[in-house]
Amino acid sequence: MASCKLVARRPGQTDMIIQVAGCSIGGGNVVVIAGPCAVESEIQMLELGRQMKECGVHMLRGGAYKPRTSPYSFQGLGEEGLQILARTRQLTGLPVISEVTDVRELDKAYQYIDVIQIGSRNMQNFALLSEVGRQDKPVLLKRGLAATLEEWLWAAEYIAAAGNRQIILCERGIRSFETYTRNTFDVSAIPALKELTCLPVVADPSHGTGRASLVGPVARAALAAGADGLMIEVHPHPAQALSDGFQSLTPQEMQRLMEELRLIAAAVGKNLP
Ligand code: PEP
Ligand code: MN
Repeated sequence: MASCKLVARRPGQTDMIIQVAGCSIGGGNVVVIAGPCAVESEIQMLELGRQMKECGVHMLRGGAYKPRTSPYSFQGLGEEGLQILARTRQLTGLPVISEVTDVRELDKAYQYIDVIQIGSRNMQNFALLSEVGRQDKPVLLKRGLAATLEEWLWAAEYIAAAGNRQIILCERGIRSFETYTRNTFDVSAIPALKELTCLPVVADPSHGTGRASLVGPVARAALAAGADGLMIEVHPHPAQALSDGFQSLTPQEMQRLMEELRLIAAAVGKNLP
């Protein structure tokens, strides 16, 4: 595999730990990120944020700029969505992560959120990667829809080469011939990345499977395989969600999953506070 100067693991190098508003990602800590696919309203986020904090989730997610396949689908609330996230952060004390899809959204995003998410469709948007590389906020870089591990690491190298080393990789499944699941979740990518890089690796079994019933089992497998964290879509009423309801857990299901994840973290010697 071609060697990326900055993100490839060097012999003897220890795992990188990224600090986000009081929570540590990497180095034996498990971070759990949860929230709806899209921010839909203030009441939705405040209530869900409170429930997620109660069940021990460490960070909240919610899309304000949604990259949708159809231009007629809900595209997200934009800046208003970011403002709702900021108010939810204030109320709960939990840091927030949200996706940016375009360099023109970055100034606004930096005002309101703690971690910038680069989505699968933008993994090779090199202008966007370089731009988030020039800032000092942590970046969660999702794997491209059909990206090899090498292409993914080169994308991370773009961010690092521009100066920002605070990069979290997120496995979210790749395209395959299978259609029962939305994507094919690549569990082997997790230990493979551990060999190739010191960057923390988070798993997203929601987009990885596309089915709520499969999210828990795949989340457990990812943690057992060495993931430093999980990102899970949760919606108060999945059937009414404006996007990705089919793969969203209810808050009660998320609470049960947290308990299972605690058992697995303990079994593999990781810290899930
Ligand atoms: C998301 O996290 O809501 C999302 C759009 O994910 P992905 O980029 O992995 O499709
Ligand atoms: Mn989604």
